[in-house]
Amino acid sequence: CGIVGIVGHSPVAPLIVDALKRLEYRGYDSAGVATIEHGKLARRRAEGKLVNLERRLAEEPLGGFIGIGHTRWATHGVPNEVNAHPHFSEDVAIVHNGIIENFSELRSELVAEGFVFASQTDTEVVAHLVSRALRGGASPQEAAFSALKRLKGAFALAILFRGDEDLIIGARSGPPLAVGHGEGEMFLGSDAIALAPFTDAITYLEDGDWVVVRRSGMQIFDMEGRPVERPRQQSVGTS
Ligand code: GLU
Repeated sequence: CGIVGIVGHSPVAPLIVDALKRLEYRGYDSAGVATIEHGKLARRRAEGKLVNLERRLAEEPLGGFIGIGHTRWATHGVPNEVNAHPHFSEDVAIVHNGIIENFSELRSELVAEGFVFASQTDTEVVAHLVSRALRGGASPQEAAFSALKRLKGAFALAILFRGDEDLIIGARSGPPLAVGHGEGEMFLGSDAIALAPFTDAITYLEDGDWVVVRRSGMQIFDMEGRPVERPRQQSVGTS
């Protein structure tokens, strides 16, 4: 039910958990965080409250200067660790809020091609769609865009690519998603409140927008793949 992403310059897992706590008011049943550590995707997930995720992270800390996090309000698949986000497919990690309406059709298509599903979520189809496009030779940006074009429903998404430690791709079609601008670091969050500890310079995505976020800045595109400009705002009274 909440999304956070950070392309930063220090270990991001604790920062992501702190930002997720600021989204607790939305309600959730499980939570998770994924980073790229030593060139590999790694994650910790836990059913229940964020303290459970914090306990997991204390037992087995997660390094990495880039990462995504999620609090889940289950719609497809029971609330347990296996269904908690982030979901992985090969070199891709993804978090998602909302519902992919056509997931069962996409799932059948992917299963027929040999993709193996680890969870019962609608979300996991998105991870496999992106990794299928990567296998086909697409760049991360092309792969994300081609996957987005297949999705029907309501979503806010954040995607991490193992091969690029300076890239998070976000997308919005329904649930809100905002970009936070930092100094040599950038953020994604479900709202400005989540990002308040890091920055008050915020750009809200509009419906149908997707965004390429790097430490040096970001570029927003529409669903035709055309670059679009959205205003940068000062958020007030959220810290
Ligand atoms: N539909 C997804 C799931 O059930 C995402 C739910 C959410 O918005 O947290 O895992």
